[in-house]
Amino acid sequence: MTILKIIEYPDPFLTLKAKPVENIDEEILKLIKDMADTMFNAPGVGLAAPQVRSDKRVIVYNPNAGNEKRSEDDDNCDENEIDEDDFEQTDSDIDETDGDILANEESEDNANFAKNSKSVKDNKHNEEYRAIINPEIIAASGSLISENEACLSVPDYSADVKRFSKITVRGLNVDGKKIQFTTEDIQAVIIQHEIDHLEGVLYIDRISMLKRNMYKKKIKKQSQTK
Ligand SMILES: [Zn+2]
Repeated sequence: MTILKIIEYPDPFLTLKAKPVENIDEEILKLIKDMADTMFNAPGVGLAAPQVRSDKRVIVYNPNAGNEKRSEDDDNCDENEIDEDDFEQTDSDIDETDGDILANEESEDNANFAKNSKSVKDNKHNEEYRAIINPEIIAASGSLISENEACLSVPDYSADVKRFSKITVRGLNVDGKKIQFTTEDIQAVIIQHEIDHLEGVLYIDRISMLKRNMYKKKIKKQSQTK
């Protein structure tokens, strides 16, 4: 297990735009595994590559966060969980997890894309995670207030952030297969937050200037007393 160092505001690396992944090679797969370990260790519900000082467009997240009430589909999860040793294999029995793919049953195309959005078991933490490579939000609607949103790179702080309530995301999974799915509420918030990181945007960039300045002052004070 590798726990990566999570960089924190005001590290300027967090403001840089990440670059598309061209090849899903060993290095990217290791980055993803290490990011998952780091996320669960923190603990957190999502992590973007820039937070561990990588400029790759990669996010990992916990697909179960906020889903205390699971749908029937999720009962199939056990069959799809794989050992870390199997992680890099592309077995046909691991591409059917579509537990939290919402609202796309009507679209066969979407269903096929969504099927590839598999969860992977992090067996060190016994938790499922998902990785999306080169994620993009291709549709967004509704709005909600994400209460007390927080970030592993913005310690000791949380704030309410306005987010889309429903998004459609496209990207690649760890096998390089195209995925596309629609998700809502907490899962939609997590994915928006992580994709923001790939654009060099932190959630504190989405709150009022007054609140942001209060946080900046607090950080300044802390760094002066260190
Ligand atoms: Zn964050």
